[in-house]
Amino acid sequence: MSETNILVVEDERAIQNVIKTYLENAGYHVLCASDGLEGLDLFREYEPRLVILDLNLPTIDGMEVAATMRAESDAYILMLTARSEEDDRISGLKIGADDYITKPFSPREMVARVEAILRRSRNGDEQGLHLKFRNVTLHLDAHEVFAGGEKIVMTPTEFKLLRTLMKNHGAVLSREQLVTRVWGSNYYGNDRVVDVYVGQVRRKLEESTGEILIETVRGVGYKFIDEPIV
Ligand code: CA
Repeated sequence: MSETNILVVEDERAIQNVIKTYLENAGYHVLCASDGLEGLDLFREYEPRLVILDLNLPTIDGMEVAATMRAESDAYILMLTARSEEDDRISGLKIGADDYITKPFSPREMVARVEAILRRSRNGDEQGLHLKFRNVTLHLDAHEVFAGGEKIVMTPTEFKLLRTLMKNHGAVLSREQLVTRVWGSNYYGNDRVVDVYVGQVRRKLEESTGEILIETVRGVGYKFIDEPIV
């Protein structure tokens, strides 16, 4: 199994370092962000399996960060809260955080909690992480796409493009944004490549679902339609 990515979003450098050290010693690959904006950037770029999220953060409040992450993916969220923040813990769990840990905490307990969450995910009846909108389901670990009940064959680039559009469902992404997220910021080719790939993905989905699920927004870019089916 490949190394599991864990993202730590914590503005207190000392705590960030302790968490990183303990998780690395436990065999995880750890990314660190010091505020909510950086946290969301790293979250989108590296798609960590689990996020350790301090709720009391500069720039964007941790609760908002948690809600945004939850809307975009099924990554696990372990909240860090102060002892006095019981209301936050409850709201955080309602938003969809998977567990919380109260500061000050023992680093060994933190590692045990992380392992418990990841173990739960392997043993549970969930089929790993997935994204599902309309008739389309992406299994992120297996890199499989199901639409209208059938499995669809996609190339790795098509899969990445569809995943990016679905994660941002309902929002328009420009060609430039799609190039950066799918082909990477070192890609210097023509951004019309996006049009070609969107065309292919759209056709494959349409063949299985009978619907146009990726909309062209003229002069802006593309979006995955997420209005409810009527
Ligand atoms: Ca803090």
